[in-house]
Amino acid sequence: MSPYHANLSNDGYIYTKKDGLVSGLHTYGVIKPESHIRQADDGNVWEAIVVGAGYAGLVAARDLVKAGKKTLLIEARDRVGGRTWSAEVNGTTFEMGGTWVSHVHGRLFGEMQRYGLQDEVSMTRTQNGGCDYFTLDTGSGSRKFTHKEAGEMTAKAWNIFIDIDGSKCRDICPLPHSALGNSRVSFNEIQAIDKLSCRDRIDQIKDQLTPDELALLESLVPHCGGGSVENIGFLEMVRAQALQNYDIATFEEVWTLYKIREGQSTLARRIFDDAARLGLQWTFKTPIKSIIEKDGIVSVVTTNDKILRAKRVVNTIPIAVLPDIHFDPPLSPLRQEALKINQVDYLTKIHAEVEGDLRGLRGCTWPGDFLYIYGDGFCAGGKSTRITSFAGDNRGILDPLKEPEKLEIALKRFHPMEIKKVVFHDWVSDPYAKAGAAWYPAGFLTKYLPELQKRHGNVLMANADWARGWKGFIEGAMEQGALAADTVLNEVGLYGANPIPNLYSSVL
Ligand SMILES: Cc1cc2nc3c(=O)[nH]c(=O)nc-3n(C[C@H](O)[C@H](O)[C@H](O)COP(=O)(O)OP(=O)(O)OC[C@H]3O[C@@H](n4cnc5c(N)ncnc54)[C@H](O)[C@@H]3O)c2cc1C
Repeated sequence: MSPYHANLSNDGYIYTKKDGLVSGLHTYGVIKPESHIRQADDGNVWEAIVVGAGYAGLVAARDLVKAGKKTLLIEARDRVGGRTWSAEVNGTTFEMGGTWVSHVHGRLFGEMQRYGLQDEVSMTRTQNGGCDYFTLDTGSGSRKFTHKEAGEMTAKAWNIFIDIDGSKCRDICPLPHSALGNSRVSFNEIQAIDKLSCRDRIDQIKDQLTPDELALLESLVPHCGGGSVENIGFLEMVRAQALQNYDIATFEEVWTLYKIREGQSTLARRIFDDAARLGLQWTFKTPIKSIIEKDGIVSVVTTNDKILRAKRVVNTIPIAVLPDIHFDPPLSPLRQEALKINQVDYLTKIHAEVEGDLRGLRGCTWPGDFLYIYGDGFCAGGKSTRITSFAGDNRGILDPLKEPEKLEIALKRFHPMEIKKVVFHDWVSDPYAKAGAAWYPAGFLTKYLPELQKRHGNVLMANADWARGWKGFIEGAMEQGALAADTVLNEVGLYGANPIPNLYSSVL
């Protein structure tokens, strides 16, 4: 049982035939009171302001107050978690964005350990649950495979696709946290790979695949990257392969198996509550519009024209939303160019509660409105199943807000099912996300990633969208928050237990 009470958030949607589309779901992530500001020290200048209460912002804010820094957290929404949050609907937890956790995500697992959640996990696919098979519909009707058969077809296709260097990417990406060049691989070698889109790479190897294997590959790429095989760069897949230890056999364990039983919002609340206990100040429902730096002090201006000032700002606003923020001095021309190109992940993630036991089900429809489906455990009461499904970039094809009734047709293509309700967050129309997790087109990473990671004066830029390691994952958000907090602490002054006076000046 989560220790938290679920309050109503403005975020999320539920659709039933009886009530139609209703916005707002309950979550442990809603913070009350929404504002808790005493005042800043030093003529109203905080030591640090953190913009955004996703995982990057939460980790940064917690680390800063833990080190005794006067810190203000500003968030546009009414809740913590950003693109990762869980909703509670009639006793069932639905993960609306970032979901799956794995021990290979060291920082994330470290946070789970810190707050006693490391053993509080559940599994998405129930072995021997009802409908324990994989349905594949590639246009000529639906066929059933065992999970093992489907896994073998996918693995064969992926291994041929990814094997650009004859060693399943071990040679080209030996150090995935330094994927753009390192002591073993030059930047130029990486740049040559980054020229390829996933479509380019598929064209090179497609003759080696059966139609089913090709369909599984062509759907897996947008399932991971939320765009299309045309607009996702191949280097993104190389990094993913390296990060999951060069082995597609670990895909399920790393990407889609383990969840925090009480939902991601429980972990986000634990980090927030820890920071609050240590003196964090905050203001939710407070979108910002400008970040202005003058004489070393950064002013953050809210949409209702409140000015909040700090020595350092940790800005965690995602790439797709950053163009809405006015920066003075302006962002570098290269960063502005990157924002214009933007990321390509416009995925849709939809949950449904369906009658009966479909806990063992998995499936893929390609081409189609939805790509993949997962049986995801029983709903509260044990008589119905929660299912989770993903579409790639469906903009203009299937809009869950405009035509929610069409979701049912798309879901039924995987398997006959009696749908009781549909639950989702529309990330594409969300003004504070505007897209899903960040994946980029060919040529983008080598040209823009280092620029996105750079600071902008006294503004540290921290978001999973340009993380060094697990970019586009919770792990990457935590990496970015921790690194930014560390930089701020080094700059605004962190004194250990027994600081040696003038240590650095005497060494230098
Ligand atoms: C559908 C989906 C499924 C995913 N699945 C997984 C998964 O299974 N595993 C995994 O590891 N990752 C997954 N991810 C990725 C993961 O959720 C993100 O990478 C991560 O949550 C990003 O965290 P962040 O703190 O960097 O950014 P965000 O969570 O986006 O945080 C940024 C914060 O800034 C706030 N903000 C934005 N604009 C303003 C403004 N103007 N003023 C004030 N505040 C503002 C936002 O409201 C938000 O709270 C998924 C993402 C999505 C969308």
